[in-house]
Amino acid sequence: MNNAKLRKCPDCGAEVSKTADKCPKCGAVLPSAANIGNAIGALISIGLTVWIFWKFGLFKMILVVLRH
Ligand SMILES: [Zn+2]
Repeated sequence: MNNAKLRKCPDCGAEVSKTADKCPKCGAVLPSAANIGNAIGALISIGLTVWIFWKFGLFKMILVVLRH
């Protein structure tokens, strides 16, 4: 039975705590849950910016300006 708090290092295969940022054996940087959360947060903020542009018709305004 696998320990839910451990995962395997992709570089050396050592069992590393899920909360660790680095493998203690080989020093490889591991993608932590916090990093994934930051990436999702960045994607959401980009999506929100695009949505706000769309909502206020700024894309249409830019197209109109470009056509003139
Ligand atoms: Zn390792």
